Amino acid sequence: MIRITELKLPLHHADEALSAAITKRLRITPRELVRFSVARRGHDARDRTDIQLVYSVDVSLKNESAVLARFRRDPHVQPTPDTRYRPVGTAPADTPRPVVIGAGPCGLFAALILAQMGFRPIVLERGKVVRERTKDTWGLWRRSVLNPESNVQYGEGGAGTFSDGKLYSRIKDPRHLNRKVLTEFVKAGAPPEILTEAHPHIGTFRLVTMVESIRETIEALGGEYRFSTRVDGLDVATDGSGERRLRGLHLNGGEYLPAERVVLAIGHSARDTFAMLHEAGVHAEAKPFSIGVRIEHPQSWIDRARFGQDAGNRILGAAEYHISHHCSNGRTVYSFCMCPGGTVVAATSEEGRVATNGMSQYSRNERNANSGFVVAIDPARDYPGNPLAGIALQRHWEERAFVAGGSNYKAPAQRLGDFLAGRPSTSLGSVVPSYRPGVHPTDLAECLPDFVIAAMREALPVFGRQIQGYDHPDVVMTGVETRTSSPVRFTRGDDFQSLNTAGLFPAGEGAGYAGGILSAAVDGIKVAEAVAQSLGAQ
Ligand code: FAD
Repeated sequence: MIRITELKLPLHHADEALSAAITKRLRITPRELVRFSVARRGHDARDRTDIQLVYSVDVSLKNESAVLARFRRDPHVQPTPDTRYRPVGTAPADTPRPVVIGAGPCGLFAALILAQMGFRPIVLERGKVVRERTKDTWGLWRRSVLNPESNVQYGEGGAGTFSDGKLYSRIKDPRHLNRKVLTEFVKAGAPPEILTEAHPHIGTFRLVTMVESIRETIEALGGEYRFSTRVDGLDVATDGSGERRLRGLHLNGGEYLPAERVVLAIGHSARDTFAMLHEAGVHAEAKPFSIGVRIEHPQSWIDRARFGQDAGNRILGAAEYHISHHCSNGRTVYSFCMCPGGTVVAATSEEGRVATNGMSQYSRNERNANSGFVVAIDPARDYPGNPLAGIALQRHWEERAFVAGGSNYKAPAQRLGDFLAGRPSTSLGSVVPSYRPGVHPTDLAECLPDFVIAAMREALPVFGRQIQGYDHPDVVMTGVETRTSSPVRFTRGDDFQSLNTAGLFPAGEGAGYAGGILSAAVDGIKVAEAVAQSLGAQ
């Protein structure tokens, strides 16, 4: 088969226009085209008066080799890549069972791949099974009751379970591991179009059933899950040459679990576990992340600004945006984890703190668009000293936000007009905030460092020139967005093991090797392969 990429057609094209575009592009007659399928469809809305659909298509021809020879110098007409996943081997007999800590996307895919190779992994998850966890998460959103062990960050499915379920990433992917993840998601109940959409998303409700389905697959292959099981300590032996090697895990409740190969997929919010690992001497470094707020606009404003007269078009769906600005104070402000047609959610896992994030349903038809509106910070300038200093910084501003919100899990919020004028909000305007359990109008300058506030004030009018209405005075900003990525990296070597603790495989977002559902899942696959190879898979 031949893959044609960058095939552009107007948004309102007729069905038969695609085959006509293929024959024209390949300079063949319709009779030579045997069949074709869409491998990917995106859109180019840079000119909103002339929006184009951008296709990649796989075509079968009667005379493929001749056509390929004719286009051999054309990067957009090439043989269709083989995207099938090939396991690195199978488990040898009597191999010790690997352990996976964390049932987020990284841990799930590490466990799934290990199980598919015959390794029968044990998955340890501090939170609850996803249906029970859903009740606890809504407990904070509806009743202001936080369960510190079962919430939006902790529990089956990990941090992305209550999310927009955006499934794209900018990672380099020469082995097509993204495709493996998406294919497994579809098997588990995701809509099949995630395989072809350029910017696929799943929405939160489907994610819940999907993580259950993946669990059933892992268990059917001999894997085992243990919920409400938190890893509280490592048993590390040091040999005569000073090499440290993992022997086992101390679990909450005092149990000891022997373990020689452990995937550490704990996410970016397990601060107590980060501290435990640091105390146990596992090599860790502070890493950059970003802090700021969630910003909400009516989705119709974003649709109009992006798609003009085609706002509301079914193929285009709810409009997204991705914008950034380099400020005069040397800081970069950018949009993060934009959720079209969604809601802002309470995302803390710790008592007495407030943190925001965003989610949406598959339909993305809530009234508001929301996005992180954040400023990049780094250890050298902003939290020097020790690997865990970024966590102290996060906690400090999350506590300030809790107090500014009224010390009851409401979040501090401000009208954009008041924010730019430097006065506290006492009420909000036409844009109704979606955050539950509610917001308290106040001054966000109390909840973030001065340089962050200055950078945001500079960026807003700039973004307003790019997206009409972005800096409308009634736009609502809700604080604080502090958990954009992990503040710590548990550095690993070429063999994917911790630099100084053999047998420990740091993985996913918490270890600093992923940012988002898809990249965390891909990292889980890579780490599972490394574990399998270290156990002699052939
Ligand atoms: P996590 O998903 O955080 O999973 C870690 C798991 O480890 C947790 O379940 C935790 O309970 C468990 N754990 C931690 N410590 C221990 C311990 N000591 N013992 C046992 N278990 C432990 N990304 C996207 O790509 N698209 C989106 O639309 C999106 N929306 C998001 C919306 C929200 C509200 C949030 C919070 C995040 C969102 N993200 C999104 C980010 C995404 O969820 C993360 O990047 C991803 O989940 C990271 O995967 P992970 O497996 O590395 O870690």
